[in-house]
Amino acid sequence: MIIYKSAAEVDLMREAGQILAESLERLQVMAVPGVTLLELDREADRFIRSRGCVPGFKGYQGFPNSLCTSVNDQVVHGIPTNRKLRAGDLLSLDCGLIHEGFWADAGVTVGIGAISPAAQRLLDVTRQALATGIEQVRVGNRVGDVSAAIQRQVEEAGFNVVRQYVGHGIGRDMHEDPQVPNFGVAGRGPLLKPGMVLAIEPMVNAGGPDVALLGDGWTVVTVDHSLSAYFEHSVAVTPDGPEVLTALSPSPVRRDV
Ligand code: MG
Ligand code: MG
Repeated sequence: MIIYKSAAEVDLMREAGQILAESLERLQVMAVPGVTLLELDREADRFIRSRGCVPGFKGYQGFPNSLCTSVNDQVVHGIPTNRKLRAGDLLSLDCGLIHEGFWADAGVTVGIGAISPAAQRLLDVTRQALATGIEQVRVGNRVGDVSAAIQRQVEEAGFNVVRQYVGHGIGRDMHEDPQVPNFGVAGRGPLLKPGMVLAIEPMVNAGGPDVALLGDGWTVVTVDHSLSAYFEHSVAVTPDGPEVLTALSPSPVRRDV
């Protein structure tokens, strides 16, 4: 069942999104060679709590941390460890928080130090695939229009989208209907209507689309150990087009922390 948000609820989700955007911005600046994944997790937790929000990932279905950190052939849901970042790594950061009862969910992949041209291209294509998907968030379009646009962009670049994990509606729960796959057929799926909020999250492998779960029960890796990248925004459907709630605004909600 799709839960439509009122304008007041979207206002709260926008506030949530801005705080999450600020958190991810800080983490990107921090992510340099020598920093550990746990240091990033601790900063995410500290910052989110400093804004009076709840780090939503902590304890979610038993997840132990406030941030997912996925390096190189890890796709998503990596558990932060004492692993130190090294120049050339691709690091995916995925974070979520709850503000006044509403979730924001977003993520970004960053290169650590100098990365290879191939890694940079994967990163650029994945970021562009998210932007292309967001452009399809129009009243009257369907979820399949978003999915197909992402898939086309990725496959034209010679990469593959992950099938086993998908985007989702978001609101009082992190995962609401509808599912938003990164593959599909234009014109199919649920109709996009004002008040829907979608977490759109292309996960793109440089190699094949297949992924596997590590023994920790969380970390998703590419089966062929190819590099993977991921970007995510929470996006509201409005009569004027997509509103990206988790994009960093030039005038954030508060600047005093
Ligand atoms: Mg996420
Ligand atoms: Mg998500």
